[in-house]
Amino acid sequence: MNLKIIDTHAHYDDNAFDDDRYELLSSILSESVDSIITIGTSIEKSRFSVEITEKFDRVYAAVGIHPEDCENIPDDYIELLKEMSGNKKVVAIGEIGLDYHYDGYNKDIQIKIFREQLELAEELNLPVIIHSRDATQDTMEILREYKPKGVMHCFSGSAETAREIIALGMMISFTGVLTFKNSRRAVEACAAVPMERLMLETDCPYMAPIPHRGKRNNSSYTVHTAEKVAEIKGLTTEEVISICNKNAISFFNLKN
Ligand SMILES: [Zn+2]
Ligand SMILES: [Zn+2]
Repeated sequence: MNLKIIDTHAHYDDNAFDDDRYELLSSILSESVDSIITIGTSIEKSRFSVEITEKFDRVYAAVGIHPEDCENIPDDYIELLKEMSGNKKVVAIGEIGLDYHYDGYNKDIQIKIFREQLELAEELNLPVIIHSRDATQDTMEILREYKPKGVMHCFSGSAETAREIIALGMMISFTGVLTFKNSRRAVEACAAVPMERLMLETDCPYMAPIPHRGKRNNSSYTVHTAEKVAEIKGLTTEEVISICNKNAISFFNLKN
């Protein structure tokens, strides 16, 4: 295929890339990948993500505090994020949201940090990348209140929730989870999302699509998720990539 793909959500700061981070990025960007947004999850990781973008024209960053990293953050974290977002390669605030998956999470802190970052994004006029795991009800309640320019990433909720997110004016992005054999719910949700609201992502190094499931993921595998979307929507893979690329360019205001 000669159409290069945009991966809207990756974690190239991750230790899984320590041995070959820049070689891998150079190679996939020269072959099958058009652009990548690498996503921060803490102050340090957001900083590193911005640093990675400086080495490649077509790598962008999002800066933000992930719900699982909400504790022990500096008091002036909003100021620090604001400073980082002054860099022109920073295209979004994220990933932010709620994650009640593991025992011991602090709901009140997560909600407070989520809200503060939604307000920051509004002030900076940047889109937000939302992470929600086992927290649909609280996440949706906050999104209904803020109605951000946002994308719900790694979506694995129901078709009904997908429709509500769309009704709020938001985007939805899917990872390789869509290709898994037990992904019926995600497939139904994908069918409910209009093409103009859909984006593709890897969430690498995690969530590698079939046929790479269980291995380290990277942005070049986004094509397998595109193939699955094409099957669900009755389109060609090229059509899916072309539409999703356009959506990503306009949503994140990526420079051509
Ligand atoms: Zn996430
Ligand atoms: Zn992520």
